[in-house]
Amino acid sequence: MTNIRHSTAERRTLIFGIDGGTWEVLEPLTRRGVMPHLAGLMQKGVWGKLTSTIPVNSAAAWSSIISGAPPEKHSVYDFFRWRQDGAGRSTANASFLPRPTLLDQLGESGQALSLRVPMTYPPWPVKGYMVSGLPTPDDESAFTYPADLAPYLNTMIEKGSAGRSWQLDDDQRGIILDQLEAAQRSLERMTEYLLSLRTLATCFVVVRDVDELQHFFWDTLSGHDHLEYLPRLEAYFSVIDQYLGRMLDWTGMGGRVVIMSDHGFGPVEGIWHLNDWLHSNGFLKYREPSNLNTSKGELTFRRRLSFAIGRRVLREFKSLGIGGKSLENWLTQIKLSAESGVDLNGIDWSATRAYTGNVGEEYLPIYINLAGREPHGSVAYEDYYQVRDELRRCLLDTHQPEVKAAHFAEDIFDVVDPRAQTTPDIVVETVTGAVQSDFSMHNLEVFEKSRYRNGCHRREGIFLLSGAEIEPGRGRANILDIPATILAWMGIPLPEHFSGRVLSEFIPGISSIQRNAETTCVETGQFNLSEDEEAGVRKKLESLGYL
Ligand SMILES: [Zn+2]
Repeated sequence: MTNIRHSTAERRTLIFGIDGGTWEVLEPLTRRGVMPHLAGLMQKGVWGKLTSTIPVNSAAAWSSIISGAPPEKHSVYDFFRWRQDGAGRSTANASFLPRPTLLDQLGESGQALSLRVPMTYPPWPVKGYMVSGLPTPDDESAFTYPADLAPYLNTMIEKGSAGRSWQLDDDQRGIILDQLEAAQRSLERMTEYLLSLRTLATCFVVVRDVDELQHFFWDTLSGHDHLEYLPRLEAYFSVIDQYLGRMLDWTGMGGRVVIMSDHGFGPVEGIWHLNDWLHSNGFLKYREPSNLNTSKGELTFRRRLSFAIGRRVLREFKSLGIGGKSLENWLTQIKLSAESGVDLNGIDWSATRAYTGNVGEEYLPIYINLAGREPHGSVAYEDYYQVRDELRRCLLDTHQPEVKAAHFAEDIFDVVDPRAQTTPDIVVETVTGAVQSDFSMHNLEVFEKSRYRNGCHRREGIFLLSGAEIEPGRGRANILDIPATILAWMGIPLPEHFSGRVLSEFIPGISSIQRNAETTCVETGQFNLSEDEEAGVRKKLESLGYL
């Protein structure tokens, strides 16, 4: 083992994440000469589709990549979840992930840099450097390990590149591209600086904004509409490819290269407001009286405002002497709208049998309000299976959107007893697979066309492995196989909770690497972010359209 570690320490490893990456977009770009470095890797490496987690979103998928474990193990199904202390809901953060993580283990073969990998906030001590990715509250926060890197890196981040103006009309969508291009330039500046710091053995970087871009420009990328944006989109992917080329230079000829996405992408047909659907089918009750007689547009606007205002800004209002009854009423209204959204406070839990609290893309999650498990549970365990059957029948009868399947938790996840599970109880698949669901309430229509976005996540993403010992070819893998394979390839023992398969069919000679039963899974002592951090993260997620 000592020898292996010694020899591998001189060989660099690049893990290049493309958030939302799909061959449907990338392969044509390589054929047209837009992404020559990626094309070169596809010629000499093995590549194919990568099956992601369910739910299909960045929080769940990156948590699984980092921790090597499926969602039922790390319990991150989305950016939001119930607090364990019963005090409402909070955003998921890196302390929820079992350790050691992939990022901890990478340090076994020398200094490792992780750069903008989602779900790494707050950063923690590793052998090397960590620059947190989504959802980092803002660039003023402690987003690096070591902490003293943050002020300097902050000077490299272009102002206005972080927040997104996602509610833009079609003819204003160029603004999003301005922001994404500025964010990419910021990432490149940080990368150059960090690579110059000291000898690194591993670099794990995620280009997160491909996900964002595809949400807004799927129609263009798939050749259907708004083709006037195509030259600029190709230029964007060309910049990503040049960045990949720079990283390949750093990796060197003999290095290991892993490219992966957290999930894929496809068109979106519409948004299904599942809580409204559950309400109209008698599974969910709203609190009375409802003060939310607003149009959908206003509701979204109010929610947006509520987070923009936040506690800090409210204090500023008061310090400026602005106040009085009307402001109070206005803020109360905003607060109610906000609580009905993210924190689900608009639900009458005593009369609610099922609800959703997560965004769904392709696979749509629903929870039974099970007593003893849910914070406001009202369904007795004796009734659980009957409620679930009734809900499934009702879902299968739905025609807008048309439902293909309603899977029970045990069909998808490794769970036995619903009282102990944290997974959704039912996961809904629609016929087209092109439906997004959310947890907002009091919308005018239960199912409506997506207004600002025309793309959404798909479970099938991408992977590529390239290195001296790898024969060119095609293959398939599961997302959990990637962290296991990376460690085995680097000669680092797998922690026992890394449940993926080592892809030994692609890399001769690595199948003998054993799991290390001594590297036991440690629950890190989960904590919630401070109120200010929480407000910052919510604001960030809202700007990305997650609320
Ligand atoms: Zn993603």
